[in-house]
Amino acid sequence: MKILNPGKEDYHIHSITFSDGWNSVDEIVKYAGEIGMTKIAICDHSAALLKADGLLKKTYRSPCKRWQNVYNSVEVIFGVEADLLNESGDVCMEIDGIEGDFIILSYHEEVFKSDSKKVAAGFINAIKRYHDKIDCIGHVRIGLEELDALKVIQTANEYNIPLELNAKYFVKYPENWRVLLDNADRFYVNSDAHVLSDLRDVRNEAFQLLKQMKYIK
Ligand SMILES: [Zn+2]
Ligand SMILES: [Zn+2]
Repeated sequence: MKILNPGKEDYHIHSITFSDGWNSVDEIVKYAGEIGMTKIAICDHSAALLKADGLLKKTYRSPCKRWQNVYNSVEVIFGVEADLLNESGDVCMEIDGIEGDFIILSYHEEVFKSDSKKVAAGFINAIKRYHDKIDCIGHVRIGLEELDALKVIQTANEYNIPLELNAKYFVKYPENWRVLLDNADRFYVNSDAHVLSDLRDVRNEAFQLLKQMKYIK
């Protein structure tokens, strides 16, 4: 197994600008600079989840095309936490009609309420259909039983798509994530931050835990 972002990089952060985070893109970027991050991806929820949560109308995505980091040297990517829509593997990967530059494919039950087997089938079909667009499979233990998660992890490996060790969920339920730690070829450790303190703390906690569990030195 290989951790793709062992340094000060985080690829899963939510903003209030585009979805359900607590801070604006500008606040997040300033703060990321203060705590020494070098690269971040603001991966807000896709239009499908925004719609399900009643947040769709507030998102005007086009300004992100001309947004520039005037605060510090943190490299900023505008991604999307895309949504698995059904068992056939349809995916929503846009916000306000604009696709992201970093696509995390996640399952959220607000968008596609289903059982573990069907969710796994959906992921596997989505990977087969969109592997050239998907940069990462998000929080694979949410909505998936261990053996179904394993099938998704194996398919992602086959198509060279990294997984995500979702720091927020990993620190709560470490044992649930052994299936990923033991089987994923490559993975990111991402905060899934919705508030600034997540960005500072939860990744650090995850790395400490990885040491305790002897996955890293
Ligand atoms: Zn999510
Ligand atoms: Zn998220």
